Amino acid sequence: MSSPSTRQHFIDNRWQASSSGDSIPVIDPSTGEIFDHIARGNGEDIERAVQAARRAFDGPWGRLSAAERSRLMFKLSLKLQDHHEELAQLEARDCGKPLKQARGDATAIARYFEFYAGAADKLHGDTIPYQSGYTVLTLREPHGVTAHIVPWNYPMQIFGRCVGGALAAGNTCVVKPAEDACLSLLRVAELAAEVGFPAGAINIVTGYGHEVGDLLVKHPDIDHVSFTGSPNVGKMVVRAAAEHHTPVTLELGGKSPQIVFADADLDAMLPVVVNAIIQNAGQTCSAGSRLLVQRSIYEQVMERAGAAFNQLQVGSSQMDLDCGPLIRQSQLQRVAAFLEEAAADKITVAGRGRIHPDAPKGGFYQAPTLLRDVPPQHRLAQEEVFGPVLAAMPFDDEADAIRIANGTDFGLVASVWTRDGGRQLRLARAMRCGQVFVNNYGAGGGVELPFGGVKASGHGREKGFEALYGFTVLKTIAIKHD
Ligand code: NAD
Repeated sequence: MSSPSTRQHFIDNRWQASSSGDSIPVIDPSTGEIFDHIARGNGEDIERAVQAARRAFDGPWGRLSAAERSRLMFKLSLKLQDHHEELAQLEARDCGKPLKQARGDATAIARYFEFYAGAADKLHGDTIPYQSGYTVLTLREPHGVTAHIVPWNYPMQIFGRCVGGALAAGNTCVVKPAEDACLSLLRVAELAAEVGFPAGAINIVTGYGHEVGDLLVKHPDIDHVSFTGSPNVGKMVVRAAAEHHTPVTLELGGKSPQIVFADADLDAMLPVVVNAIIQNAGQTCSAGSRLLVQRSIYEQVMERAGAAFNQLQVGSSQMDLDCGPLIRQSQLQRVAAFLEEAAADKITVAGRGRIHPDAPKGGFYQAPTLLRDVPPQHRLAQEEVFGPVLAAMPFDDEADAIRIANGTDFGLVASVWTRDGGRQLRLARAMRCGQVFVNNYGAGGGVELPFGGVKASGHGREKGFEALYGFTVLKTIAIKHD
């Protein structure tokens, strides 16, 4: 049943109640308590949202010039900056992020809209030399109505990158945020309406993935799907979209290696390597979750990294410590099961942070843990834990490092720490993944940097200018004129 305070869908620039009348409780991961309710969408709600997006595409949004779209997106970026603290507070509470991380996310969404506002009127086709008597040109046209399935770990950032890119390219959007965290996105859509986005350009339908998510992806009037989430659901989405031959961009998980050679600058490396796994309590697709260290410095690195882990503190989003809680109870149980398995297999803990004594009792807290000598084929070195757990292992030489680093089903991000310029390039080229950082780690990098995976990490690229190509269809026009 619906609670009196249930937040509604945002469709056609209006709050609209769910046709089902049902709601889903929103839980604060820092306390485990319900603090809000969202609408539990159904097929009718999806139908209304897709129709609104189609009307906008065929009407007021589709008629805007690229420069007009760009101006609206700049306005939204400025509006998001004006509401920075409000959005950060919403995101922190909903996701359990430490406030400083949520503030970073609020900054990032404004930057996405700024970047894509600037790109909107610079996206164009080409002319192609062909037979004499012909002029051939290409047009980059929007797909039409695009669907966006967003996960709970970075709602604002992921909305910024996929919806920002889709709008810049001229599409309209129906967004299905994760049932665990969608409050910030409902507010962003409302702010977009306030700055003048036409009705139907951005629509948000909340609800469960297996209900509204599935219906949205299968809808015959959806022209493109952008999915960010787990590899298993990604497979289901591709199968469902295949029903209507709908193209899909897939951003899935990772088991990204951070590779440290004996000549690395260890002082620069250590804080970056630790942050790459504890950011967002390890619930980051591009978390640096494997640490590969050359054997000659392995003991030294384990000692220093272990000491750094021992200093880490976990608490509520408002306590704003190194780590917040995990998103929900089942995620905490999942991470705990991985750690129990490690203990049963006699894998050594080289460092462990602590849950602050003032952290609220009902929260979903997990102490960050560094595990050492994890066999490269062990589940902990192969599967995504999606928690603050770093699996360390030694390697002997370049060939060994490459074999271990590429030896999982995933291929999202890698980092290489070495002062040897030739090795930097050899390793960067040898990594089977979408992004490589040398002597740094970007967890996806900035807005400007194309991002995406290979293998089980997905396909297609988001971020940067490259994403705009994915949000368009290339049409070739061959004109015979004599
Ligand atoms: P999830 O796959 O369970 O859910 C992601 C989204 O899909 C949610 O909105 C959910 O409601 C929806 N969904 C669930 N079932 C669906 C279905 N049958 N049809 C359509 N939509 C459905 O993943 P999660 O637990 O929310 O997020 C964690 C996963 O996401 C991790 O594996 C992580 O690596 C990945 N992730 C990847 C990136 C990236 O850019 N590569 C970014 C963030 C998260």
